[in-house]
Amino acid sequence: MIHSVSILGSTGSIGRQSLAAAERLGVRVAALTAQKSVGLLEEQIRKFKPAYAAVYDKKAAADLRVAVADMDIDIGEGMDGLRHAAALTDAEAVVTAVSGSVGLRPTLDAISQKKRICLANKETLVCAGSIVMKAAADKGAQIVPVDSEHAAIFQCLEGRRDQLHKILLTGSGGPFRGWTRAQTAAVTPEQAVKHPNWHMGAKISVDSATMMNKGLEFIEAMHLFAVTPDDIQVVVHPQSVIHSMVELVDGTVLAQLAVPDMGLPIQYAMTWPERVPSPYERLDFWRMRDMTFEAPDLEKTPCLALAMDCARLGGLAPAVMSAANEAAVALFLGGKIGYNEIYDRVAEAVQRAPNVPDPTLNDILAADDEARRLVLQR
Ligand code: MG
Repeated sequence: MIHSVSILGSTGSIGRQSLAAAERLGVRVAALTAQKSVGLLEEQIRKFKPAYAAVYDKKAAADLRVAVADMDIDIGEGMDGLRHAAALTDAEAVVTAVSGSVGLRPTLDAISQKKRICLANKETLVCAGSIVMKAAADKGAQIVPVDSEHAAIFQCLEGRRDQLHKILLTGSGGPFRGWTRAQTAAVTPEQAVKHPNWHMGAKISVDSATMMNKGLEFIEAMHLFAVTPDDIQVVVHPQSVIHSMVELVDGTVLAQLAVPDMGLPIQYAMTWPERVPSPYERLDFWRMRDMTFEAPDLEKTPCLALAMDCARLGGLAPAVMSAANEAAVALFLGGKIGYNEIYDRVAEAVQRAPNVPDPTLNDILAADDEARRLVLQR
């Protein structure tokens, strides 16, 4: 159980739920950051009274300084502000709830301070998993996953890491499960952000629709649990009741089940290794109808297939893919490209960007920039 926390990305969906969990659990809030939602961040600052806050957007940071001029708080801006919030010595843990590879350097800063990482930023492990996991091991920093699938696997493996045979990574299949490329051609941003089971931010909702999210989680799981692509099987489970499973060496399968509410894995990342009561709805097996399972259709979910290819390629390929996907999804959400073009642009960036084995942090940051450029300047 932690007693103090900094939350990166506090105005997003996971960030807001993390603040609610901190309030409920009596965890003190040391720092908050947001990309540009100054109004909500101001409300959060007045309620939780952190000593530090940062806004990524510099103009929005200036607005926040004016808005909270009556308060005793330092306001930072840009990447430096994010990194300062992550490394603030006054917090035992950092919830990394920012979206995208912007979370990479702050996460490494928090690790260097030996903080618990409540990891809700999958792109960080996708683009630099080897570097991040090695830094955490060297420093003795705990990484507790918040992503529901990885939280499930983490819980199933507690005390039995050496008994793992295979990870069964479940996913709902998203709102367009079974749709052909011809059928998804006209999908609008409004349709893509409506997920049947989970309420999430726009970027991750689109990723869930394309199943790029499952691909990112595939790579995230490789790093978090030190397994190879061959050790992970993706299982489509539309009801999202089982959050993932592990098969042990003797063939025993352990699953973690709960209502699909991110509040639960957020709470557990804060209370781990303890468990405390939560206010969430309970599963009622008398009322539960079907739980069904199927193989993913990789022809119809090319983003998932591409991510699994990039997982096997290694090197810079996952970083290029993830950054290109961020740029392509932003274009789609902005009405600049069609739904199917998300895959086309990401695949082209992966094909065109050079790869190297065992990239350094600088290699990864440069590849991230280049991938975004390839998507935007096409
Ligand atoms: Mg997930």
